[in-house]
Amino acid sequence: MASPGSVREWHDETDVLVCGFGLAGAAAAIEAHDSDPGAGVLLLEKMPECHAGGNTRVSGQSLLISKDVEALKSYQRAMSATNPVPEDMLDVWARRMVELEPYIEARAREAGARYIHGVGWSERAAVLEYPEFGAASAVAHTATILPVPSGVWLAFKANVEKRERIRRSFDTALVDLVQDPDTLEVFGAVVSRNGIRRNIKARRGVVLCTGGFENNLGMQRDYFGLSEAYPLGSPGNTGEGIKILQKAGADLWHLRNQGQSGGIWPGFRFPGHPTAFLRQLFWQSFSWVDVGADSRRFIDETHEWQITHYKQKVQGQWIDTPHHRVMPMHMIFDETTRRHNCLVTKVMTWNTVVEKYDWSDDNATEIASGWIARADTIEELARRIGRDPAALAATVKRYNDACARKMDDEFGRAPATLQPIAAPPFHAIEIVPAIVCTGGGARRNIESEVLDHSLRPIPRLYEAGELGSMFSNPYQNGSYLTEAMISGRAAGRNAAGLPDWSREPRRAI
Ligand SMILES: Cc1cc2nc3c(=O)[nH]c(=O)nc-3n(C[C@H](O)[C@H](O)[C@H](O)COP(=O)(O)OP(=O)(O)OC[C@H]3O[C@@H](n4cnc5c(N)ncnc54)[C@H](O)[C@@H]3O)c2cc1C
Repeated sequence: MASPGSVREWHDETDVLVCGFGLAGAAAAIEAHDSDPGAGVLLLEKMPECHAGGNTRVSGQSLLISKDVEALKSYQRAMSATNPVPEDMLDVWARRMVELEPYIEARAREAGARYIHGVGWSERAAVLEYPEFGAASAVAHTATILPVPSGVWLAFKANVEKRERIRRSFDTALVDLVQDPDTLEVFGAVVSRNGIRRNIKARRGVVLCTGGFENNLGMQRDYFGLSEAYPLGSPGNTGEGIKILQKAGADLWHLRNQGQSGGIWPGFRFPGHPTAFLRQLFWQSFSWVDVGADSRRFIDETHEWQITHYKQKVQGQWIDTPHHRVMPMHMIFDETTRRHNCLVTKVMTWNTVVEKYDWSDDNATEIASGWIARADTIEELARRIGRDPAALAATVKRYNDACARKMDDEFGRAPATLQPIAAPPFHAIEIVPAIVCTGGGARRNIESEVLDHSLRPIPRLYEAGELGSMFSNPYQNGSYLTEAMISGRAAGRNAAGLPDWSREPRRAI
């Protein structure tokens, strides 16, 4: 922290300072603005304006809508049983969730956008991730705001832009908080713009909405234990919010939970693209397998793992699928799969939505780029990707034999997806573990107050969204975006409701 005594000059000031312009930051800024017509709000984003929006902008835009407080509580309690959410937090969260739909509709209306049930890019009305925990009663439906992609983000961005009292500052990173070293009360922040440090006075409060640490491999290794993992979302999510909160005296939680709740997904990553592509979720043909370090298969590849956010049930426990434990991995496929399936998902991820990388529908461009290896025989393909030819050929033969029998003894793949890898040329693409959302951060309460090591709120400090998310372990689709709204609203409303510290003589600095 920077102590008030170290501040020689305030370069700017506001009532409520919101850091990070994703959904949580947008919701916090809107709420601070609307809850007090006298409140000035400054919204900082470290990325340039064209790259704002965080993970929110490139997510699947799926929103969980619930109509039953008790069923939702019971479902979430069961999912978080291995690391329980405090009951008082769960209770208020469930009530706010059940009241959330009209708020989302209002944001869509204000932006002139259409609110719909479903997600606009899949036929499903709702994904019920864990029926055994009570998903069917807890989840009324999923919803989104059009267009696809980015509809929810675009609507909230438009809501922010309509409000003149919300000033926005891009290319501006939060680097520290100005705090009383004894009471921890927060008076403002230190930010960096074009390498120049500036002190910003926040007369009522500071809200951190700086997202996760998906794009910080060191933190993935130290805090989560993954040796390799790459973001599917914003490259701006490098975890400094967590470091700043540590320095501010916050207690931390949820740094290590199953798959960071959002799961560890199969992705592809190439030079010149710091973030990962997400592998296709909907297949037209199934003449492909995944192999791990020993060139053998390791999972039922065509099971819809996305429905449980890449968690599988082992001995009664929902744990991460083994992808991150069996590296290096390759997807091996034949010419039929190459011709009939674009290998990546285009409706979400930074590369496709923001960078607008247009992966070719028949993957020919990516073969020409050298991202996909190709050979006339499996043995030759193995040599090209540095694998043992005999081992890879044996795996493909075992799989093709299973296809002939319509019975996958090894992993129980569905018979309809047992299509042989038979049409040359054969192809291979490396798979990397890819992260949707991290979720770790400061422990907070349902009012989005950041808690210190004694579980007391740090005065005037708030946190919202996936930074310090309340979710831990199994996770229901659509919960992160709605949590960003609920926690962002609470943070904005509570910060705006505080008195101006600079008018209190004892605190003047
Ligand atoms: C591919 C993908 C699909 C997903 N699908 C869904 C879905 O369908 N439904 C769902 O509920 N959730 C989904 N999620 C998760 C969801 O998108 C996130 O949990 C949510 O968007 C987090 O919102 P946020 O505002 O907390 O963070 P973000 O939206 O990530 O925003 C954080 C912002 O903070 C900025 N920032 C970082 N550091 C600083 C700093 N020091 N100073 C200033 N600014 C900073 C970043 O640049 C970024 O703009 C998905 C995520 C991904 C990646």
